[in-house]
Order: sequence, then C-alpha cells, then structure tokens
Amino acid sequence: MLTIDLAAGLLLYTFVEYAHHRWGGHTTWLRSLRRSHGAHHRDPQEGGVRFTTKLVERAPLVAKLMLLFGAAFALVLPLAHAGVVLAGLLGGYLYSEWFHHRMHHVWPRTAVGRFLWRHHYIHHFVDGHVNYGFTSPLWDIVLFTWRREPSVAVPAHRVPDPDRSVVGIEVRARRARA
Ligand SMILES: [Zn+2]
Ligand SMILES: [Zn+2]
Repeated sequence: MLTIDLAAGLLLYTFVEYAHHRWGGHTTWLRSLRRSHGAHHRDPQEGGVRFTTKLVERAPLVAKLMLLFGAAFALVLPLAHAGVVLAGLLGGYLYSEWFHHRMHHVWPRTAVGRFLWRHHYIHHFVDGHVNYGFTSPLWDIVLFTWRREPSVAVPAHRVPDPDRSVVGIEVRARRARA
C-alpha cells in the first residue's frame, strides 16, 4: 500500500508540475510566478545559479505549499498514508527541480534524455504554448499541448555546451555582434 501511496504522490506531482508551469508560469493571474518564469525564459541558465541555491531560495514557498497539500491529504486519508503521499509529492518536486536544472546545464547522455531535452527546448525556443511538462510529456498528451519535432534549433548562448551538438538538437551558430 505504501508503494501505491508513494506512486500516487509522484503522479500527482507530474500534474502539479504541468499545472504550475502552464497556468502559473504562463498566465497573467499569478504575476510573481509569471515574472520569475519569464526571467527563466530570457536566461534559461539563470546566471549560472547552483541547484542548491535555487532550492534554498524556493524552500519557504515550497514548505508552505507542502503544508497545504499535507493538510488536504490528512482530511481525506489516514495520517500514515497522507504522510507517504506527501513524501511522494515532495520527492517528485525535488526530482523535477533537479531534472529541469540539468536540462539547462548539461547535455543529455541517453536517447530518453535527448527526447526530453528536445521536448523542453521546443517549449523554450519554438513555441511557449506547448510542452509544459518538464519530466515527461504525460499531461501534454492528455491535455493536447504536446508538440513533437524531429529536431530543434537552439541559440548557442542558451545551451549547456555550444561547441558540441546532440542528435535532434541543432546549435545555431553565435551571431557576430556589430
Ligand atoms: Zn526551462
Ligand atoms: Zn515556460
């Protein structure tokens, strides 16, 4: 049962990830989130910020949201189960945050990685109204926002390593400044 609770928390996080990106990061009704996500779109490497720094900066907000989710789970589930679902949700958040950070700081090493990096780069560099999931295209498929391309062109100054191309990710040469 605990495994099911943990899986439920992880699955729920995949939807939270999609929803917060689509309706938080890309709408006008949550201005602060839209502003910080807009900054991420302008500079995906976020000035070279370390992953741990990012986590610490977001910890107060994440802690509040986890308390809210925990309270909601405790209303409808026995406490032990609510705790494990919450652990799954928190684990999903940490994995998603780490994975998204990697997508902008290192190149993928596997075919699945290349697929997911391309999925996210399409959102960044082709169409900001598709591919809201970071760790999978699951909810993009369910909610009809999935866009696939065999290859995506990305600007050299916005990728982890401009000197090395990856299958399906074509690095556009840096334009000489006048
Ligand atoms: Zn991104
Ligand atoms: Zn976005």
